[in-house]
Amino acid sequence: MTDFSRMGVAAIRDGVANGEFKAVEVAEALNARVANAKALNAFIVETPEKALEAAAAVDADRAAGKPLGKMAGVPIGMKDLFCTEGVQTTAASHILEGFVPTYESTVSANLWKAGAGMLGKLNLDQFAMGSSNETSYFGNVISPWRRNDGSNAALAPGGSSGGSSSAIAARLCPAATGTDTGGSIRQPAAFTGISGIKPTYGRCSRWGIVAFASSLDQAGPMARDVRDCAIMLEAMAGFDPKDSTSLDLPVPEWEAGLNSDLKGKRIGIPREYRLDGIDEDIAAMWDNGIAWLKDAGAEVVDISLPHTKYALPAYYIIAPAEASSNLARYDGVRFGLRDLPDGSGLQDMYAATRAAGFGAEVRRRIMIGTYVLSAGFYDAYYTQAQKVRALIARDFEQAWASCDLILAPTAPSAAFGLGEKTSDPLAMYLNDVFAVPASLAGLPAMSVPGGLSKDGLPLGLQIIGKALDEQSVLNAGLAIEERSGFTAEAGEWW
Ligand code: GLN
Repeated sequence: MTDFSRMGVAAIRDGVANGEFKAVEVAEALNARVANAKALNAFIVETPEKALEAAAAVDADRAAGKPLGKMAGVPIGMKDLFCTEGVQTTAASHILEGFVPTYESTVSANLWKAGAGMLGKLNLDQFAMGSSNETSYFGNVISPWRRNDGSNAALAPGGSSGGSSSAIAARLCPAATGTDTGGSIRQPAAFTGISGIKPTYGRCSRWGIVAFASSLDQAGPMARDVRDCAIMLEAMAGFDPKDSTSLDLPVPEWEAGLNSDLKGKRIGIPREYRLDGIDEDIAAMWDNGIAWLKDAGAEVVDISLPHTKYALPAYYIIAPAEASSNLARYDGVRFGLRDLPDGSGLQDMYAATRAAGFGAEVRRRIMIGTYVLSAGFYDAYYTQAQKVRALIARDFEQAWASCDLILAPTAPSAAFGLGEKTSDPLAMYLNDVFAVPASLAGLPAMSVPGGLSKDGLPLGLQIIGKALDEQSVLNAGLAIEERSGFTAEAGEWW
């Protein structure tokens, strides 16, 4: 019998198109895997009927000789930050519990149009705020990976797209959507040995995605290889007049353009990312990545991104500032939860609903954001952070004079244990140190597996590209994938 759990997007799409198997068979097999993986807590809601319905439609189209879409017959997971018509959408928060949108996000609609089906809504950090999935109201996701020291300690799948990364690494689905505001596609991909790309800001519509920090939020695909990411990104991207920052450009044929020959490409190695005390495993993986890209024909050059050390503090001002504004809409009137203490008025309802409905990390961000936007502190914090953001974007602009792509680690360490960083928000924020610069500059950036740490956990290599040059990013990712020999998988203990 065909093991559909080991097939990627391309293999399922091609097998369905060639009549080797039916889309319904794939949906049934993966529905069963999702149902049997409750221990991972990757899904908030399972929608087996949606997966079957989409698959049956694809099988019927094929039988009728109709053309099939780019993702025809491929069941995927949908991060529960995307509004899905008729299916609860919570952003992993209590305040949105029970919210059933009457509309579909543009990205998810694009995927259904391309023939994909939905296995369910994936768990995440609450409102996508976090790097470990521990801020979810619905409990943390567990990574399918374990250290090789026999400890069986539960590890973080990364965040905020931790349900997505865990489900893909556990082979519950071949691919899933992610969103990346400051690393939430790349860091969870790195922690779980999979690939994921955040495209240029504006490639994927933000319409119908629960907003976190609108000037940074960007959707992208997560999957087990580079080709699958290219296919899914093609299906997700495209101009959308309903998003004022959507790019009015045609969607390139990234899959057809895949080419791992990097002759003529210059790869920049940013010296500021070689932090003092960098983890040995990470440094060794980075060196391997450099060697692989040279082997693929690229020239490697040293570059400087001088404002890198200000990226993290700037991000943790800008993102909470935008979040505090975006989250003002959750007032107990329009969506989800309403907490109305006896005999209380409108203000009391707002306060009670928001106090009960937002988790601790979300409340922290709203308070930081409100503070940095307040009259007395706006210039000192928010304006300064915006200036730093411009300098970071300029660093990249200047770097492009001497290179075409940048290679760096995705995260400063392998996956950490659940609970290890929850008491120290700064330690948690530091995990995003390599991810946020590309977010602040709006650039495409991808994580691909780069090897294993000494204790047997996946590590990710990050490729950052020029605006709109996802193709070169994907191609460098492919060159690494072809050379890294990364075949490690999480053992099936759940
Ligand atoms: N970890 C980062 C944060 O907590 C990034 C989150 C994201 O990209 N959604 O803000």
